[in-house]
Amino acid sequence: MKQTCSRPLTLWAAKHASQLQRVQIERQVQLYPGVVPYNPEAENDEAAVTLQMIEPFDRVVAVAFVGPAVPEHVVLNGTPVSPGMHPIRPTDRLDLGLDSYWLSEDLSPQRTSYDPELHGLDARCCMTKARLRAGQEIVICPGRPGVPCDVIYKAAAWEAVIQANREMKCPGCGYRPGEPAWHPTVPQLRREVLHDLCNCFHE
Ligand SMILES: [Zn+2]
Repeated sequence: MKQTCSRPLTLWAAKHASQLQRVQIERQVQLYPGVVPYNPEAENDEAAVTLQMIEPFDRVVAVAFVGPAVPEHVVLNGTPVSPGMHPIRPTDRLDLGLDSYWLSEDLSPQRTSYDPELHGLDARCCMTKARLRAGQEIVICPGRPGVPCDVIYKAAAWEAVIQANREMKCPGCGYRPGEPAWHPTVPQLRREVLHDLCNCFHE
């Protein structure tokens, strides 16, 4: 059983490596140095880095089009990149001049009712191994960043296990319901700023 719809993406933006902002990406977003990112209707701008959501494959969830007229250096995971197309995976870091960006997936368990046509015939609860009945309340595991899962649980079994064990992990992917969603941390940002400053002094 595989869900074909892509999961929502959050863009984390840090201006001058501080002041973390969250932007929900609908379809695409254009990034300009020093400017708050926004979701445009317009075509790709040659002076922008355009992040375009794609149907996920091999952990890639978006493509960055680096325009030929972007006025600042563009750095992906510490490596400078040239104009053109670059695949983006969750938690990758994209630097545009003094601004830093990360993408993350919004991972929350989906509660719904079992539909054999949608969720696969003869599906069983991952926890109890019981065969599911059409219309039964189920929970679909959201997976971990870059690790799709889509394992199905009977809703009651999912809740009982979480109640019994806050550290419960999905056997399919290791997702922990009690774990907070991924986000870049401010101490991480500060450390990287300090690191950059040290590099400047040594040059
Ligand atoms: Zn899972």
